[in-house]
Amino acid sequence: MINIEEVKAKALECGFTTVAEMDVDTIELNPAARDACAENKCHSYGKNWSCPPGCGTLDECSERIHKYKRGLILQTTGEVDTMDFEEIMELAQNHGEHVRAFADYVHKNLEGTMLCGDSACRNCKTCTYPDEPCRFPDKLSHPMEGLGMIVSEVCLRNNVKYYYGPGTLTYVACIMLD
Ligand code: SF4
Repeated sequence: MINIEEVKAKALECGFTTVAEMDVDTIELNPAARDACAENKCHSYGKNWSCPPGCGTLDECSERIHKYKRGLILQTTGEVDTMDFEEIMELAQNHGEHVRAFADYVHKNLEGTMLCGDSACRNCKTCTYPDEPCRFPDKLSHPMEGLGMIVSEVCLRNNVKYYYGPGTLTYVACIMLD
């Protein structure tokens, strides 16, 4: 059985500012999250195996997620001027670095777990979608929203804050452990 305290310590070492236990049973996938993806503001919709529609239907994603019971919510919160795009992007980049550092640890030590970030999988310069199968299915990380999660809801249902007050922004990832 995975030593959750060890994994939490590692996640904090990777730079996340909040690491909290997550009950996977609290996760309900919502078609509204998929509708937001379909607006394609991130330009990844239909271009990556980690995102809809390549990641599968809501039912298929739900089945994959609910094989697990325990997980962790991983947040990067920072103080930013929410009108300053550069500051926002810097925080997003920091969060991405925390996710990548943690993903390295996960891939070496936590086989069979499911890591979800806040953006499309960036393991390859160009994703093989839709012409060839994913090159690294064991290392693929899905965006939480792409799977159908409402991120704020996942946090709040696990008694984890999503909003830390004016002048702050929080990026979120999660991992399903066992
Ligand atoms: S591992 Fe490569 S091929 Fe697979 S989803 Fe990520 S970017 Fe695409």
